[in-house]
Amino acid sequence: MKASKMLIPTLKEAPSEAIIDSHIYMLRAGLIKKLVAGVYTFLPMGLRVLQKIENIIREEMNASGAQEILSSAIQPKELWEESGRWQKYGPELFRFKDRHDREFCLGPTHEEIFTDLVRSMVQSYKSLPLNIYQIQSKYRDEMRPRFGLMRGREFIMKDAYSFDVDQKASELSYQNMYETYERIFTRLGLNYKVVLADTGAIGGSVSHQFMALSDVGESNILYCENCSYAADEEKATSSFEEEKIEEWKELSLEETPNTKTCEEVAKFFHVPLRKVFKSMVYYDEQSKEYAMFIVRGDSDINPVAVINVFHSSEAFVRLAREEELLKLGLYEGYIGPKDVKIKVYLDASVTKISNGIMGANKEGYHYCNVNFSRDFQGEIRDLHIAKAGELCPRCGKPLKSERGIEVGQLFQLGSKYSLPMQCTFLNSEGKLSPMIMGCYGIGVTRTFAAIVEQHHDANGICFPFEVAPYPCVILPVSYEDPIQKEVADLLYEELKKIHPDVIIDDRDLKAGFKFKDWDLIGIPYQIIVGRNAINRIVEFKKRKENSKEELSVEEVIKKAKEFLKDK
Ligand code: ATP
Ligand code: MG
Repeated sequence: MKASKMLIPTLKEAPSEAIIDSHIYMLRAGLIKKLVAGVYTFLPMGLRVLQKIENIIREEMNASGAQEILSSAIQPKELWEESGRWQKYGPELFRFKDRHDREFCLGPTHEEIFTDLVRSMVQSYKSLPLNIYQIQSKYRDEMRPRFGLMRGREFIMKDAYSFDVDQKASELSYQNMYETYERIFTRLGLNYKVVLADTGAIGGSVSHQFMALSDVGESNILYCENCSYAADEEKATSSFEEEKIEEWKELSLEETPNTKTCEEVAKFFHVPLRKVFKSMVYYDEQSKEYAMFIVRGDSDINPVAVINVFHSSEAFVRLAREEELLKLGLYEGYIGPKDVKIKVYLDASVTKISNGIMGANKEGYHYCNVNFSRDFQGEIRDLHIAKAGELCPRCGKPLKSERGIEVGQLFQLGSKYSLPMQCTFLNSEGKLSPMIMGCYGIGVTRTFAAIVEQHHDANGICFPFEVAPYPCVILPVSYEDPIQKEVADLLYEELKKIHPDVIIDDRDLKAGFKFKDWDLIGIPYQIIVGRNAINRIVEFKKRKENSKEELSVEEVIKKAKEFLKDK
C-alpha cells in the first residue's frame, strides 16, 4: 500500500470533548469520526482494526462449535411483548413506526429474535445443543453516550445464544463460552479479569463479566487476593468486622434540630458513623410501590440491589421526592423504619448494630438506642455497596478494588425467554419442554477502545500485532532522494512478498510529520530509510518497545520473515 493513496486524516489535537486517551488517540489517529453523539464512522484504518478484532472473535466462536448468522437490527414489537420487555426496557429502546403504524424497535440485544428463530426451526432434542451467534450493530439510546466507542448509541456486538435440553447441558454450553472468551480476550492482547455480575435487563440467574482492567473503566471490581472471589460492584457483597454486642438500652426520642445527614447525626451524638442508619425511600413506577431501604451510615445503598428488590429496571426506579415523602408521613433527613406503612428492607449489617440511631419520622428528631427486631422490622437483604477494605464474603479477608471496562458478559438464562415465548422441544421421552438458554455478548467496538486504552503511550497507539491495521511501514526520510527511494522501493517489493499489507510512506511530507503519524496510528514495525541508505543500512523500530536497531537491507528482509509472520 502506498501511503500517498491512503486516507490518513491524522489530527494534531483531538476535540475537547475527548477526555480519555483511547478516545483522543482514536480520533487523532483518524481511525473513527463522530457523526452525532454516540454514533461514529469507521475510517479505513479503524475499519481494518475492527475487522481484525471481529475475525479473532469469529475464529474462536467457530472453533467453539457455534454457528454464525446475521439478523436484522429491525425488530417487531410483537416479539418484545411476548417476552414482556416492550414495557420493561424503558427509554433506552429506539422505537419507531412504519407507514402502516406498525411498531418496531432497533435491537439493543437479540434474545427475542433468536428465541423466535429457534422455536420455529427446532422441534426435537436431536437438534440440540445449538449455539448461534452474530456480529452486528446494536442500538441503545444511552442517557449519556461518552468516551467514544466505549459507550455509543450504535455499537457492534457479538451476541451468541445457546439452546439446550436441560440445565446441566446449558451449564456446559456456558462453560464452553467462558473458555472461548478467555481465548478471545487473550488473543486480543487484553489484561482482563472475570467477575461475577448482576443480570440486569437481560435477566437469568448466573452471570459473569469480562473486564479489561483500566483506570478509566466505568465498572468497579471488588476482588479478593486470598480466594478467587471477584465481582462487579453491582453484584459484590462484603461483610464487616464483627460488632461488639452491647446490652440493649432503652429506646429514646431525641431532639436533633438541623441534623439531617448521617455524618451530622454521628457528630451530634458522638457515635461512630456506622451506628447511624441510612434510610432511603425509593419508588418503582412499574409496580407503583414505595419501599424503604436501610444500610449502615458508613455504607451506600446499591441501586442495583434496590432495582432487584422491585423486580424492575433502572428506567423505572427512583428516589421518592420530598412531597411524596410527606404524603407517607416522612421527613427528609429524619426518615426511619419505625412504624412506617411501606415495606422495609435492610442490609444484613444493620441487624448487627446494637443501640443504633435512626430518623424518628418527626421533623427534627431521631431515635437513639435502636435495635433491630425490638424497635423495627424489615426484610434482610444485601443492600450496601461493597468497598475495598471490607471483608470478602467467601473467606473473610479484606477486599481490594480495581476499575474495569466491561467488554463481555455471559448469562445463564434458564427458561426466562423460552417459557413465555414457548420455545419448546420434544425431549427423549417425547415430552414437550422449554429449551434452557444462555446468552453471551462481546462489545466489539468497546473492546476496540479497551485495546487502545491498554496499549498506548505519550506518542499514540501501540497496537498488538494481531489487531494492528497494518503490520509494518517503510519510512523513507526523504523519498525525493534517489538513493533512499531506491532502498525503500526495494524493501517494499521484498517485504510485500512476505506480507501483502506492508506500507511505504511515499508522501511528500516533512519526515517529522511522517514519523508522528505512524507513531500515532501505532503500526508495530517501522523501517526508517535515511542517510545511511547509501551504505544500505536502515533503522528497524519496534513501536511498542520504542527500540531502534541499525540493520543492513538484507538483515531486515531476513528478519521480516519472522516479525511479519501472523502469530
Ligand atoms: P453497560 O452496563 O456498560 O451499559 P450492559 O451490561 O448493558 O453494558 P450487555 O447487555 O451485557 O451490556 O451487552 C453486551 C456487551 O455489549 C457489554 O458487555 C459491552 O461490552 C457492550 N456494550 C453494552 N452497551 C454498550 C454501549 N452503549 N456502547 C458500546 N458497547 C456496549
Ligand atoms: Mg453487561
